[in-house]
Amino acid sequence: MLLKLGMLLLAISAGAIVNVAVAWVLAATAQTGDWTVYTLNSTYPLLAESRFGWPARSLVNDPAPELGVARRYAIDVGGKRLPFLPVWPGFAINTTFYAAILWLLFAAPGRIRRWRRTKGGLCPACAYPVGESTSCTECGRAIPSPSGRG
Ligand SMILES: [Zn+2]
Repeated sequence: MLLKLGMLLLAISAGAIVNVAVAWVLAATAQTGDWTVYTLNSTYPLLAESRFGWPARSLVNDPAPELGVARRYAIDVGGKRLPFLPVWPGFAINTTFYAAILWLLFAAPGRIRRWRRTKGGLCPACAYPVGESTSCTECGRAIPSPSGRG
């Protein structure tokens, strides 16, 4: 249980990292057309901002400080302005999206291995032959119902 919670937190953290990485790649390769320019107020007549991320827009920056806008939600890296202010709900959507993909990538091999062992009449945990027993005689693990064994 604690292990699964740790794995979930790890997947969410990795999902957030992938989310930011994707948004930064999109920001670094962005064209001017990706910016959204809109009226803010009379002091700063135009505020240009850009939102990046996929599948949803997850990070926002202000790519035009030359317009006199005080906000700077970006880090300058090699002449590129990488956003760091999260956008709700896009940041949560993308983090969940990438966490789910990572979870599947890392969980699938173990699931397939346990399924194949169970199908072949082996203990899913240690691959010891279990026959008709309801628990493994080698490691003591409970064996799933025989219906899954074919
Ligand atoms: Zn076993």
